Amino acid sequence: MLNYELDIANDDLRTQVIRTEVHTADGNDTSGLTQARAVVGAGRGVGSENGFGEVLELVDHLGGALGVSRVVTGLGWRPHAEQVGQTGSRISPDVYIACGISGAIQHMAGIEGAKTLIAINTDEESTMVQRADYAIIGDLHEVVGAVNEEIRSRRG
Ligand SMILES: Cc1cc2nc3c(=O)[nH]c(=O)nc-3n(C[C@H](O)[C@H](O)[C@H](O)COP(=O)(O)OP(=O)(O)OC[C@H]3O[C@@H](n4cnc5c(N)ncnc54)[C@H](O)[C@@H]3O)c2cc1C
Repeated sequence: MLNYELDIANDDLRTQVIRTEVHTADGNDTSGLTQARAVVGAGRGVGSENGFGEVLELVDHLGGALGVSRVVTGLGWRPHAEQVGQTGSRISPDVYIACGISGAIQHMAGIEGAKTLIAINTDEESTMVQRADYAIIGDLHEVVGAVNEEIRSRRG
C-alpha cells in the first residue's frame, strides 16, 4: 500500500461528502437506522400499532434508532424503512435490543453485525433468546417500561 499526501486546500475541492443517506426502494432514508450505535428492535410481540410507546421511549433515551421485523411492516404498524433483515436493512450497532421478535432466519440475517444482542421475550425457547448475549424473559411492555423508569429516575 502507498500513502500519498495530497496538497489540496478545502476550498480547492469541487465536491465534498457532507452526509451519507441510504434509500430504500420506496424512497425512505434508512441512514439513521444503519448508522445507529444502539438499535431497539420491535416485533409482533408489541401487540398492535399502538404498542410502540415504551420501545420508542427507550430509543429516545439511548439516542438510537428503531428497527422492526417484517411482520410489523407487513401489518402496516411501521414503515418499511424501519425493517431489519434480509429484505430490510442490515445493521451493525454496538447493541441490538430485540423486543418481542422471535428470531426468524431472515431477521437474523440483518443483525449479524450487532456486537451485543439483548433479547426481551416471553418465550425462553425462541431463537432470539437462544442466540442473545443477554436475555430477559417477560412481557416487553413491563420490562422496557421498568428500564425507562430506571433511566428517568437516574437522570433526574
Ligand atoms: C422471503 C422472506 C423474506 C423475509 N424478510 C424478512 C426481513 O427482512 N425481516 C424480518 O424481520 N422478517 C423477514 N421475513 C419474515 C420472517 O420469516 C418472520 O416471519 C418474521 O421475522 C417474524 O417477525 P416477528 O419476530 O416480529 O414475529 P413472530 O415470529 O410472530 O414473533 C413474535 C415474538 O414475540 C414474542 N412475544 C409475544 N408477545 C410478547 C410480549 N408481550 N413481550 C415479549 N415478547 C412477546 C413471542 O414469544 C415471539 O417470539 C421474511 C420472510 C420471507 C419468507
